[in-house]
Amino acid sequence: MKIILLGAPGAGKGTQATRIASKYGIVHISTGDIFRANIKGGTEIGKLAKSYIDAGKLVPDSVTCDIVKDRLGWDDVKKGYLLDGFPRSLYQAEELSKFADIDLCLNLEVDPSLIMERICGRRVCSCGESYHVSTLNGSTVCAKCGKELYARADDNPETVKARLDTYDENTAPLIDYYKARGKLVTVVCGTKTPDEVFEAVCEVLDK
Ligand code: ADP
Ligand code: ZN
Repeated sequence: MKIILLGAPGAGKGTQATRIASKYGIVHISTGDIFRANIKGGTEIGKLAKSYIDAGKLVPDSVTCDIVKDRLGWDDVKKGYLLDGFPRSLYQAEELSKFADIDLCLNLEVDPSLIMERICGRRVCSCGESYHVSTLNGSTVCAKCGKELYARADDNPETVKARLDTYDENTAPLIDYYKARGKLVTVVCGTKTPDEVFEAVCEVLDK
C-alpha cells in the first residue's frame, strides 16, 4: 500500500498517519518530521529548512524531492508507505510520479474555522505523540512515554496564517490533480474525534 496523506495544516494528518502506519504495517514518512530532526541535529538541510519553516513557507522543492526520493530507496518501504506532508506542490507531485507509483491519495478535509485553535493549542512529544491543551487537564507530560511536552516553533498564530496561505496557493491544487488521476478519496473530518476519523479512514483503506 502506497498512500499520500493530503490535508491543510491542523487537519490531523500526523495523528492519523501514526495510526494508519501501525495498523497496516507500513512506514510513515513525514517530511515535516525529517526537517525538524535535521534542525535539531544542526545539519545543513536543517539550517536551510528552518528559515522557510519559521516563515510558514515551503522548503525549496529540489531539497524536499531529493530527501523523499532517497527515503523511498530504503529497504523498509517495500511493504508500503504513507507520505505525510509530501507532495505539497504540483511540482513535487510530478517529481514523485517519476520515482513512485502511488495507489491512493487520502484527503483529510477539515473545517477551516477549527484550524487556528487546533494548531495553537497543540502540544507535541519527541516520541511523536501530539495532544491538545483542552484535553490535557493541565498535564505537561506525554501520557505514552512521560517526557515533557512542548509547542512546535511554527505553531504560533502568525506562522499558522502563512502556512494556511501556502496551503491554499501551493497544496490545495493537488486535490484536483489526484482527482483527475482517479486516486483521490476525501474523508470529511468535520467535528469528528480522531477515533471517528480513523474509523472512516480504515473503511476507505480496507476496500
Ligand atoms: P503541518 O502540516 O501541520 O503544516 P508539517 O510538519 O507537515 O506540518 O510541515 C511543517 C513545515 O515543514 C511546513 O510548513 C513546511 O515549511 C515544511 N515542509 C514539510 N513538508 C514539506 C514539503 N513537502 N515541501 C516543502 N516544505 C515542506
Ligand atoms: Zn511521548
